[in-house]
Amino acid sequence: MKLPSLNTQILIGVVLGFSLGGVLASIGKQSPVTQNSLYVAGLVGTLFVDLLKMVLIPLVFASIAVGVANLRAHQQIHRVWVLTLGFFVLSMGVAIVLGLSASNFFKPGAGMHLSMFADATANFQAKQMPLGDFFAQMLHGIFRNPLSALAQGDVLAVVVCALVLGIALVIGGDRYKNMLFLLRELLEITLMIVGWIMRLAPLGIMALLVNLTATQDAALISTLAYFVAVVIGTTLVHGVIALPLILFVVTGVTPWHFWRGAREALITAFATSSSSATLPVTLRCVEQHLHVRRDIAGFVVPLGATCNMDGTALYEASAALFVANLAGIDLSFGHQLIVFFTAMLGAIGAPGIPSAGMVTMIVVLQSVGLPVEAIAILLPIDRLLDTVRTAVNVEDDMIASMVVQKLAMRESA
Ligand code: ASP
Repeated sequence: MKLPSLNTQILIGVVLGFSLGGVLASIGKQSPVTQNSLYVAGLVGTLFVDLLKMVLIPLVFASIAVGVANLRAHQQIHRVWVLTLGFFVLSMGVAIVLGLSASNFFKPGAGMHLSMFADATANFQAKQMPLGDFFAQMLHGIFRNPLSALAQGDVLAVVVCALVLGIALVIGGDRYKNMLFLLRELLEITLMIVGWIMRLAPLGIMALLVNLTATQDAALISTLAYFVAVVIGTTLVHGVIALPLILFVVTGVTPWHFWRGAREALITAFATSSSSATLPVTLRCVEQHLHVRRDIAGFVVPLGATCNMDGTALYEASAALFVANLAGIDLSFGHQLIVFFTAMLGAIGAPGIPSAGMVTMIVVLQSVGLPVEAIAILLPIDRLLDTVRTAVNVEDDMIASMVVQKLAMRESA
């Protein structure tokens, strides 16, 4: 019997995951059926994410080093750098402006019961981290011994090591062609293994969604439903209208064509809530389905997975305004400008793992004197919001690679 395509299998996995999760939630958390099913779903889901993580570090290292080294052949290094960073900052800026505008317009949290706010935050001990310390910690964290960074799976430090190695390979030229050859083979082998892992994706994604749907606390979500709706709605406006529009204007690629090629990565991002875990799939999609050249994709996408997070930036800005509303604080234009910059910083600094944006959001809240303890309120809904924002984070990385490819080729023509 011929199996349906991987895309179709993944879609079936999504539908089954949500349905089974819903059934388990209605049976109740205490029932042995639910507990056993969640145990199995937990095992399968974790295994899938573990497999993706297994290939993550070699993939990031090899693809960035090779990506930078390959740019030499096209004499485009400078242009691609500038275009990539320019696009990252611009698209995150658009996302934050959208988030701030929607929050100012819909004012989520404005009429909410403050006693609940006080109760929920009473027991929460947040780590205080002033802006300066945050910068210092980030700087210390990114320059590390490459071996320890690789061994400990520190993605940001690995990105920096690979960038430096790639630059050295460019400057060294033919003298180090063996090293480049080795790295290219490592990259190809890793991508082959990714293909094997993807065959398990329908099952893994189904298991993750069963767990997500069955374990959400319905009461808490309904209390925060308005905020959730505003954030998800705005994130979707950015992901479904703003980003595809930018893509269409710059490259002429239609949204329909893009989504068909990007589907695997978007669904994996949604189910794993991790840009980093999704990276192998993202690279596969842009190279194989969306026809981005390997040298551009290998540079833009891994860098974007750690530094370019539109969904996270939008969320951090919206959440800051939500907390201000809860606390009855009116944020001035100047305050909102600070939120703009710190939300971008928080998004750049957040690693591509589940709920990372919650951690860096402390910086945003502190920068305008909002109660950091409010994070306790946001934690229960974070898993839900993280799905959509991670999908948009990953979408943006794919669009960035397509836009950069188009502009770099146009300028060099
Ligand atoms: N989960 C997000 C990602 O991996 C980061 C975040 O928490 O916002 O892209």
